[in-house]
Amino acid sequence: MTEVPDWIIDKVKQARDLFGVGGPEWSISLKMNDRPGGHEAYGYTVTNPTYLNATIEFAADLKDDETGQEAVLHEVLHIALSEIWHIIVEKDEIDEYTEAMERFITRVVRSIISQNKEFTP
Ligand SMILES: [Zn+2]
Repeated sequence: MTEVPDWIIDKVKQARDLFGVGGPEWSISLKMNDRPGGHEAYGYTVTNPTYLNATIEFAADLKDDETGQEAVLHEVLHIALSEIWHIIVEKDEIDEYTEAMERFITRVVRSIISQNKEFTP
C-alpha cells in the first residue's frame, strides 16, 4: 500500500485544527487508495462519531496543489459534520442531506482556499 505523503499528514493536521477536530479525542487513520471507498474520487471518509474514530482514504495520485488541498479540507469537514450526518442517516433522509451537505462543504472549502491558499494558521 502507498505510504501517506508528509504533505497530506501536515494538511490534515491543519484542517483538523481549523474545523475543531484537532484534539486527541478523535482518532483519524489516513490511507492512500487508487479508488477511495471504491469510487472515482479524491477522497472518501468513514466516520464513527460514537467512538470518535474515522478513516480517510485519499486518491493515491493526489498532489500537493489546490485540488489536493481542497480534498483534505473536504474530507476533514466530513469528520467535523459526522455527528449530524449519523443522526440524519438514522432518520432516513440521507439523499437530500447528502446533496445539501456536499454543497455546503464545497462552498466552505472553496471559500477557505480563495482566502488563504495554504490555509496555514
Ligand atoms: Zn464529500
